[in-house]
Order: sequence, then structure tokens, then C-alpha cells
Amino acid sequence: MAAWPAILRQAYADHRQAAVRSELRYQQTIGLAITLLSIVLDMVAVPENFVRGAVLRAGLVIPVAIVAIVFARQMKLAHLKLAVGFTLIAFAAIVVHLAGFADAATATRYTMSTTFLLALALILLPFRREELIAFAIAYCTAVLMVGAVPPALPTMIMLEHTVMTVLIGGAALVIALRHQEVAARAFLYGLRDRMTRAELEQNVRVLRELSESDALTGLANRRSFRSGFDARFVAGTRPPGLSVTLMMIDLDHFKRFNDDFGHPAGDQALRSVGRCLEASLGEVGGIVARFGGEEFIAAFHSSSVTDAACVAEQVRLAIGALEIPVRQSPGQRITTSIGLASTGPEASVDLNELTARADRALYRAKRDGRNCVVVSERIELRVDRLVG
Ligand code: GH3
Ligand code: MG
Ligand code: MG
Repeated sequence: MAAWPAILRQAYADHRQAAVRSELRYQQTIGLAITLLSIVLDMVAVPENFVRGAVLRAGLVIPVAIVAIVFARQMKLAHLKLAVGFTLIAFAAIVVHLAGFADAATATRYTMSTTFLLALALILLPFRREELIAFAIAYCTAVLMVGAVPPALPTMIMLEHTVMTVLIGGAALVIALRHQEVAARAFLYGLRDRMTRAELEQNVRVLRELSESDALTGLANRRSFRSGFDARFVAGTRPPGLSVTLMMIDLDHFKRFNDDFGHPAGDQALRSVGRCLEASLGEVGGIVARFGGEEFIAAFHSSSVTDAACVAEQVRLAIGALEIPVRQSPGQRITTSIGLASTGPEASVDLNELTARADRALYRAKRDGRNCVVVSERIELRVDRLVG
């Protein structure tokens, strides 16, 4: 963990912080319960020192434990840890102190219990590495010192107590530190998983956008135009009396534009035309897409062929009014040819058929000299219209 970047260490600390408080409070509550039970235990094990034990516990351990439990949420975390650590050390020191008054068997049991308490605390306390080491040192020092000062423990018991405390405490410390490393690594893996998942979702989003939209203009692409068209103009309800009009838009002499002003200027022109078409079609509630190259496709509802032609004418004028910045001049103009085809008010909608007719109209527009709108109905004999 020392090798982690600061930001990661902070993230880990934040992640633990929330849990640490409630964990400490929980452990302190159990500690308080054990302290109270121990007073009862003293009554049986060291009856002549029961009062001494009760007073020491009531004076040193219980008030601090109660403060820690009650103010766990408000206290500074460092203070809370200090309080919990202190109650454990004080508790163990009192046990060893009482053992000094007891017979050998009881003294052994008492000192042994402090050793196990140390092991348990080291494994369970939600302390940081250095806090855990400091706690272990303070705990050992306290219990060993209290064991040595009057009423001192018998030498054999003291020896045994020292060896057990150092051995079991040391082993528990190693296990606890190792466990911390594992927990930190688990945090890292979790973080990596979350990041990978977020990255994956981001990629899927980008891919979906790419597959549905044209990278250069940001308009829908041909594929998503088809699904948009189906949803809006085939499956959707058509207002009575309205036709569905398809519009093919092709920039005039665009190859020359590229040749004259360069491909980047051509790209810029396509972007401008894309924005212009989006705005124009937006006004009539239509949809638009880049059909490919310098060709665009659009669809909208129209009340008549004249109405449709009027929309197309406005589109042609709007594109013609665009000023494309190029090397030679800040406002180069482009023109466009448009082919139109409509369904007729009650007729069914067939995108392929509409596209083919609009394409033929566009072809005618090019042939007629470009920069104009040609309506399919005006160049093709529509048998269905004659019949209808
Ligand atoms: P017409 O008036 O008959 O449509 O002539 P045109 O030159 O526009 O048509 P043509 O099909 O001969 O050429 C289309 C040009 O569009 C050729 C190509 O360089 C250009 N073009 C197609 N896609 C892009 C693009 O993404 N960026 C740029 N800058 N140019 C493109
Ligand atoms: Mg073309
Ligand atoms: Mg063209």
C-alpha cells in the first residue's frame, strides 16, 4: 500500500472510514459488556480483590468505553481509536494487576486471558498498520510492566506470561498485517472491476453512437435513418390528409469544391450543411441523415406536393446561403440539388420506392443544371394517382 499513489491511498482511507467508526463502536460495546461480566467473574475468582477490580474498571475502563460508544459518530476517528485502544489496554492491565493477588492457577488463567485478548484485538481492530503496531507495543508494555510491579507475579508465571504475550501477540500481529494487505488488494481489485465495467459501458456507448450516427456531421447515418423513418413515418400515426415526403439532397460539384479548397474545407462544408439540414428539418418536424459522401436524405410530412416542394426550396436556399470558410475566402458558397418524392395522403409508405423515385428526381435536377429542386410527381406518371 505504501507504493500506491496518494489518490488511491486516500480513496482506500475514505472507503474504510465509514465502516471503521461503526465497527469500533460495535467492538467497544462488546468490550463494555465483557468488562461488566469480568467484575462478576472477579467475585468468584478473586473475591478478596473484587472491590479493587470493580473500582479500577469503573474508574478507568467503563467511563471511557461509554464516552466512545455514545460519541462514536461525533468524535474524531483518531480519538475514537485511542479510546478503544486505551480501554483494551487498561482492561488487560487491571486483569494482570488482579492476577498479582491471586493464587498461581488463577494468576495463570488471568494472564493467559490477556494474551488471547491481545490476539483477538489485533485481528479484529480496524486500525491502520502503524496504529496496530503501536497498539501491540503499548499493550505488551502495559501488561508486562504491571506484571512486574508489586504485587508482582511469580517469576515462572511472569516468564510464561512474557513468552506467551510476545509469541501469540506477535503471531496475531503478523496475521493482522497480512490480512490488511489482502483487504487492500481486494479493494484494488474491486476498484479495477468497477473501472473496467465503467470503461466497457463507455465503449459500448461510443460504439452505439458510432453505429447510429455519422462521425463527421453527427447526423444519423443511413442505417439509423431507416429505423427512425420506420418508427416515425411507417409505424407512427400519420395526421389525416398528410403525405410522407422523402428528400434526397446532393451537393453540387462537391468534388471540385474539394479539389479547389482541400478536403478539410470539404469536411467543414459537410458539417455546416449537416447543421443547416438539422435546423431546417427540425422546423417541419422531419428527420435527416447523411446518406453517404455528399448526399443527405430527409423525410417529413407534407400537405401537398407544392408544400413539400416549398420545404425543399427553403432547404436549397438555406444551404446556398451558407458561408464556408476556406483558404482563399472566409465565405465560400455551395449549391445543392434536391430530388423529392411523396406518398400521397392515404397511400402506404415504402421507403425503397420513395428513395428510388426521389433519386430519379435528383438525377433530373442534376441534369437540369443543378442548384434546383425536382419533384418526382412532376416528372413521373403516377398511375396510382390517376387511379386514386
Ligand atoms: P455532382 O454535382 O454531380 O453531384 O458532382 P459531385 O462532384 O458533387 O459528385 P461526385 O459524386 O463526382 O463527387 C462527390 C465528391 O464528394 C467526391 C468526394 O471527394 C466528395 N466527398 C465524399 N465524401 C466526402 C467527405 O466525407 N469529405 C469530403 N471533404 N469530401 C467528400
Ligand atoms: Mg453524389
Ligand atoms: Mg454531388
